[in-house]
Amino acid sequence: PSQPVHQHEVDSLSPDLRQELERLEKEFSVDAKKLKEISKQFEQELQDGLDKYGSNISMNVTWVLGWPDGHETGYFLTVDLGGTNLRVCWIHLTERSGDIKVTQEEYKLPKEVKTGGADQLFDFIAEQLKDFLEKHELRGTKDEPLQLGFTFSYPAHQDYIDHGKLVTWTKGFEIDGVEGEDAAGLLRAAIEKKDLPIHLVALINDTTGAMIASAYNDPDTIVGAIFGTGCNGAYMENVGSIHKLETGLPPETPMAINCEYGAFDNAHQALPRTKYDIKIDEESPKPGEQAFEKMSAGLYLGEIYRHVVLGLHEKGILFAGQDAAKLHEPYSLDTGFLSALENDMSIGMSDTRRSFREHLGFEASPEELIFSQRLAEAIAVRGARLCTCGIAAICRKKGIKSGHVAADGSVANKHPTFKKRWAAAMGEVLDWAEDRKEDPITITSAEDGSGVGAAVIAAMTLKRAKEGNM
Ligand code: BGC
Ligand code: MG
Repeated sequence: PSQPVHQHEVDSLSPDLRQELERLEKEFSVDAKKLKEISKQFEQELQDGLDKYGSNISMNVTWVLGWPDGHETGYFLTVDLGGTNLRVCWIHLTERSGDIKVTQEEYKLPKEVKTGGADQLFDFIAEQLKDFLEKHELRGTKDEPLQLGFTFSYPAHQDYIDHGKLVTWTKGFEIDGVEGEDAAGLLRAAIEKKDLPIHLVALINDTTGAMIASAYNDPDTIVGAIFGTGCNGAYMENVGSIHKLETGLPPETPMAINCEYGAFDNAHQALPRTKYDIKIDEESPKPGEQAFEKMSAGLYLGEIYRHVVLGLHEKGILFAGQDAAKLHEPYSLDTGFLSALENDMSIGMSDTRRSFREHLGFEASPEELIFSQRLAEAIAVRGARLCTCGIAAICRKKGIKSGHVAADGSVANKHPTFKKRWAAAMGEVLDWAEDRKEDPITITSAEDGSGVGAAVIAAMTLKRAKEGNM
């Protein structure tokens, strides 16, 4: 059922197209053996990141010291800086962990902010926080400020929980003057400039937020993962195993690690890159970075597809003679386009036909539709399979045999076959019995990481401060 295009339809393709399809399907396939190899190198890179600073996968310490007990309570403000939106929430964690009240607003990031500098960005965030406080009549005082959790989903080096030096922007985000700076400090300064009664308690990665928000209600949570615009995972390590760090804490103290594994294999030794992947990397604002993310995350899937189609158009094999102006626009196809394409079961694929017209200005023939669907599938299947490698490596490294991977992000939530493909590949990497009744490790939908997760982490942090443990 996950293969809407049948073999007899493929057989009906012209020899040229069929040959191209066979070539592409081969290029994009990653078999079980290769997945295992990748996952093995992944384990090594995770270990390197714990052992020394400057490793490829940075294994960032988060200062989230342990799991929530489900009894964290209080009122919290949270803000999440996403690639397109800023989300502000007011969260009430009540006595019962299942009963959480969330009030939220989303603000679109204006173009001037996305292409401006650090001041514009952080002034904008502070301005929206101000707006939010006014709108919802939230009052704090100098002595009793509102407590804020700041979700910042980029690689940040944290010396404390309320600090985070941006190492490098990812996911195409590019704002001058933030790399190398403490994002929490910049936000704090912008808040102070406006004299807002807000105290920034913690800077949080989205993966850590997803893990903690989920663990708040689900003790089987083992990993927090994002399969979205970007890709990354977080898990709980013992401080004694983080050899690069001297904390003075008992070695068995748990500490959440934000792996930043989108950077896996930046040396290009393990991943089966195609010429399309190489092109995307070269044309990206950060060539040589986020090698794994560029092959598996939502931001890039549509772009891979675009490059393949562009190549075939230039060869005169696909959409021949049609105006390809739109196809030349980088990042014009998103994961939604690919998901819809793969799932179009309508007669004559009429939705896909329309979507080709709208997105690319192409009139697609039945042949071109069949080809396109199979190509979308090949790219998405590769992405889903690669997505298992990091998590399998974490599980193997930690000896985790079962549990829930709390997942968030557009690919996990919106691509209808992602989870099934991921589960199948996970079984191949970890050698689960073929006739298993259940998968021991499963993807669950993460609770709201950047809202609830940030609030729970802020609550845990304040509680620890009160108890005098750092
Ligand atoms: C960022 C991570 C983030 C992930 C998912 C990556 O590009 O570097 O910090 O967790 O995207 O949002
Ligand atoms: Mg996000």
